[in-house]
Amino acid sequence: MKTLNGIAASPGVAIGKVFLVDSEEVSISKRPIKESAIPKEITRLQDALTKTRAEILSIRDRISQEMGKEHGDIFNAHLMVLEDRAMIEEVMGRIKKEKLATEYIFSQVLKKYVQSFLKIDDEYLRERVSDINDVGRRMIRNLVGEKRVSLDNLKEKVILVAYDLSPSDTAVMHRKNVIGFATDIGGRTSHTAIMAKSLEIPAVVGLESATHQIHNGDIAIVDGIQGVVIINPTPTEINKYKQEQLRFSEFNKGLKKFKDLPCVTTDGKRIELAANIEIPEETASVLSHGADGIGLYRSEFLYMNRPGLPNEEEQYQAYKKVVMEMAPKPVIVRTFDLGGDKFLSHLEMPHEMNPFLGWRAIRFCLATPEIFKVQLRAILRASAHGKIRIMYPMISGVSELRAANKLLEQAKEELKARKISYDAKIEVGAMIEIPSAALTSDILAPEVNFFSIGTNDLIQYAIAVDRINERIAYLYEPTHPAVLRLLKMIVDTGHQHKIWVGICGEMSGDPILTPVLLGLGLDEISTSPVMIPEIKKIIRSLSFEEAKKITEYVLTLKTGVEVVNFLKLKYQQIVRSTQTKK
Ligand code: PEP
Ligand code: MG
Repeated sequence: MKTLNGIAASPGVAIGKVFLVDSEEVSISKRPIKESAIPKEITRLQDALTKTRAEILSIRDRISQEMGKEHGDIFNAHLMVLEDRAMIEEVMGRIKKEKLATEYIFSQVLKKYVQSFLKIDDEYLRERVSDINDVGRRMIRNLVGEKRVSLDNLKEKVILVAYDLSPSDTAVMHRKNVIGFATDIGGRTSHTAIMAKSLEIPAVVGLESATHQIHNGDIAIVDGIQGVVIINPTPTEINKYKQEQLRFSEFNKGLKKFKDLPCVTTDGKRIELAANIEIPEETASVLSHGADGIGLYRSEFLYMNRPGLPNEEEQYQAYKKVVMEMAPKPVIVRTFDLGGDKFLSHLEMPHEMNPFLGWRAIRFCLATPEIFKVQLRAILRASAHGKIRIMYPMISGVSELRAANKLLEQAKEELKARKISYDAKIEVGAMIEIPSAALTSDILAPEVNFFSIGTNDLIQYAIAVDRINERIAYLYEPTHPAVLRLLKMIVDTGHQHKIWVGICGEMSGDPILTPVLLGLGLDEISTSPVMIPEIKKIIRSLSFEEAKKITEYVLTLKTGVEVVNFLKLKYQQIVRSTQTKK
């Protein structure tokens, strides 16, 4: 038995057999290339060799520093594989001769090398096979980019263990026999983690070396509450976790009674408690958890896992389905936010060094107005069937907001010309998730009907902490005084301009933080459907006056840790008081 510690990404406990995603799951097609493309393929090979070499050097240096030189030296063997001239010459020669894509030829040559090593009667050399495979995996990853996982052939329920999983891989898991997953990299607010939570799949991310320590067919426990993965647990441990599964489901059942109760404080302040969704199928869960509406529909998932772009009719049908199922409750459709960690399988979006600071969300939309307007028309058309609001992601200043609104007006005119009805008074909001938007919220407010604070991004940009990097996850602090001050500023400014302000980042689903969000005066809280009953329970057991005092106090604290410690104590008091009231 072995225990690995990572980052709790999606609550719940899964116990099952491991399906390890290794290089076999990367799709390496036997893609023919033209004669004229050979130089490009050779350059791809060289670039991948350089990149892989740099990655290995950096791991070697880190391991040497952290664990001693003798451990780091293991990676010299990896470097030697990369520097094997005979192998590289063979790959180049075969690319020219067979005119097939580099990754295919590379994997074939590598397989041949592995076979020949396996035949050698020398234990040391045979052990080099795992080095070769490791280097091969890195090379292929650098050649084909994002790893695609094929989950189609899973015959039994499994726990997926992978280096990384894309949000689009995660989006189809619930239909593919995956009961939990564990990854080497990633952070709590990565879209992979968010997706897992939405689909109620227990997950632990940021385990660093899970793929090296876990083998195919092992039994594993994924504890998405504590952020722990246990490999080949003892029967006692399995029993303990079965109890934990039971406790978790009882806890959730106990919260069901809050479903139909209003989200109101003990002194009568009403908060709109809404849900975040990624795919239309989630509306059933939104309703069964008692949400007041949908505060964030991440519409970009409609664009993923498919060969082309969704057309206007298809999008209209999807939004219409959601809005009709939710009616008369409101639905906020966030216009598509691609880029960052979400990509289209078919659109060749350029590879960027800093995708979260790059061609993402509204920037992509404003640069491709014809694609954007298809979505705007589809949302407008769906607005004829219920209460829809539109909101734009990643607004950095008023010019982008105006440009987006101009396209929205054009989309309305186009529908008018086609004599198609829509809600002429449709409300428009801006996500406030970039510090520049927070700092200019007084300029933005007069141009919109509402703000919705996207703290997942706001935190990463305000503290300069990549939201998906597990190594700096300890710095990703929703309670950092800078974050709390920004939140206060946005809410106060919104209210001065008479618009309502909501929050839809992941911190909205952390019950420990609920008193602060309440005390800041937020009008709406939108979170994962599964978290709604618990958040409602906290709100219903607090008065707005008390919450304001808590918030005032935490705003005087100097570190995020001090804030967390104080809020944990408060949380325990609240839970105890609800228990004694029972
Ligand atoms: C956010 O940034 O907080 C947000 C809700 O949007 P996303 O997580 O999709 O970037
Ligand atoms: Mg965001």
